[in-house]
Amino acid sequence: MQLPFGFLDNEGRGPGHPGQILGVDKAKQMRFIDLKTQYGRIAPALRARLNAVLEHGQFILGPEVRLLEERLAEFVGVRHCIGVASGTDALLIAMMALGIGRGDEVITSAFSFFATAETIALLGARPVFVDIDPATYTLDPSKLAAAITGRTRAIIPVSLYGQCADMDAINSIASGYRIPVIEDAAQSLGALYRGRRSCALSTIGCTSFFPSKPLGAYGDGGACFTDDDALAQAMREIRDHGQDRRYHHPRLGLNGRLDTLQAAVLLAKLEIFAEEIAARTRIGGRYTELFQAHGAVGTDIGGTPLLTPYIHPDNQSVYAQYTVQVERRDEVAAILAQQGIPTAIHYPLPLNEQPVFSGLTQVEYPISAQAAQRVLSLPMHPYLDEVTQERIVTAVIQALR
Ligand SMILES: *Cc1c(COP(=O)(O)O)cnc(C)c1O
Repeated sequence: MQLPFGFLDNEGRGPGHPGQILGVDKAKQMRFIDLKTQYGRIAPALRARLNAVLEHGQFILGPEVRLLEERLAEFVGVRHCIGVASGTDALLIAMMALGIGRGDEVITSAFSFFATAETIALLGARPVFVDIDPATYTLDPSKLAAAITGRTRAIIPVSLYGQCADMDAINSIASGYRIPVIEDAAQSLGALYRGRRSCALSTIGCTSFFPSKPLGAYGDGGACFTDDDALAQAMREIRDHGQDRRYHHPRLGLNGRLDTLQAAVLLAKLEIFAEEIAARTRIGGRYTELFQAHGAVGTDIGGTPLLTPYIHPDNQSVYAQYTVQVERRDEVAAILAQQGIPTAIHYPLPLNEQPVFSGLTQVEYPISAQAAQRVLSLPMHPYLDEVTQERIVTAVIQALR
């Protein structure tokens, strides 16, 4: 069977998209994220779902969107799920529902994908960064209180690489100031924190269905989760131009709806999501075991050549990325690329060092700055076989020597 995924070799990005995957020889190509094998598994269910949409023709907020919202709310364990156009829109819509705007401050992690801070600034609010915990790469709760001011209107911890931030510690500080918490769970849908699901851990949880995320669509998509009825209603209106009924707009919103065809894709993928989460957990754990077996691992970057991910005992990660820290990171990546092993850098700059935010703060974020220089993400997906994984580990070890 001819599969239409020839171009989807790296994170589902086409050649027109400036991705961060480091170049590999096409002939020997290994996939950074294997969407093609997954497609082979879901093809019949997917075709049936897509055909149903083509037949009923409700491309905007069709029945698949509502059905997906119901299934995801149940999966996460909250009352409301609102399907939106992207993870970026999920963050925007969540903050708009909380009334965040000009003059407000929103606290977030200094080490994340750009959208986390971009959306704060787009609303006219000021991003206030907090450094990360060096072990988990998530917002360090011990540094949070010092960043709170009379203008702080929300805190956005990021559940980076598939592992939740220490949400209870963050919630308890936030609740002392009556500040809402939005989990940026773009990378962590399916993860567990103290037995609870990511996206159910704070005022609002926001996720992304970008193709390379743990639950990825065949295009852009996202969702907001909450137990708060009033916030849920506000987010439903905001995603659809702020209308409460047709052509009646009590508030401003945007065109931020989840596409019906993407909802159909996600319904097909949701059928195998639990299995894929189990595979991700197993494969992520196995990477670490293989590195440990080579004696190449330490918990302190200082004296060791390689730092594997630390998963806190409260957490079960979905390993959106399997990210190690190495010295001479770019050299190691280049050696791997020569052998056809794709890698990626999530992310090469802390948010406070992004050019657009220059002048925003003079504060330094040394843990984020060091991570940005050393992180390297290895191929990670539920279909990574043992032989390929061993080849990757061996190549990394050799590159370090
Ligand atoms: C992917 C991502 C986003 C943005 O999601 P999109 O669906 O691409 O808009 C936001 N935050 C984090 C941490 C992400 O990884």
